[in-house]
Amino acid sequence: MRIIISCMDRRLNRYLDQWNDGNTVFVRNAGSNVGSLRDTLKLLKGADEIVVLPHTDCGAMGVVHKALSGEKMPDVLNPLITPFLNLRGKGREELERENLEVQLRSLRSLVNAKVRGEIIHTEKLGVPPSAENVALVTAPSKRKYSEFLHDVDRTFVIQVEGGDSEIDVYIAKEFLKVKEVKYLK
Ligand SMILES: [Zn+2]
Repeated sequence: MRIIISCMDRRLNRYLDQWNDGNTVFVRNAGSNVGSLRDTLKLLKGADEIVVLPHTDCGAMGVVHKALSGEKMPDVLNPLITPFLNLRGKGREELERENLEVQLRSLRSLVNAKVRGEIIHTEKLGVPPSAENVALVTAPSKRKYSEFLHDVDRTFVIQVEGGDSEIDVYIAKEFLKVKEVKYLK
């Protein structure tokens, strides 16, 4: 089984469908962040290969950048911010590039699977800006976004197990200003 870990950003939905070969499980959260995957870890440990796909213009990296610039953040965000604490002084774009290495390093310390990744250049995907977005919280799955999302370009997709979604829901509401969070069982 292959697992893809990517960001919940709505603009990635159609692009990630291109990685859907029917045998790939998608895990998504704020920032492709391995540090907040605790309940999802069991799934990761069962993978043969894990591909990490973070992206440019990432809202979660914006949050990390604010935190490193001295803005006070609530403790719920620590699993996202802590791995970047030694990167104070870096610009947001630099942090986005570092994010891939940070997450690959975390994964290699946690699983035996083959691990690789690349950065998605969001601006090349051509998804239009939108202020009217929702977030959907659901379990990791092999489903195609274009088939199960009601509004594929306006839905942030949080795909984790159990309590792992707490941090992502917080970021969606507080920083990405989604108008509604839906839970799909
Ligand atoms: Zn993102």
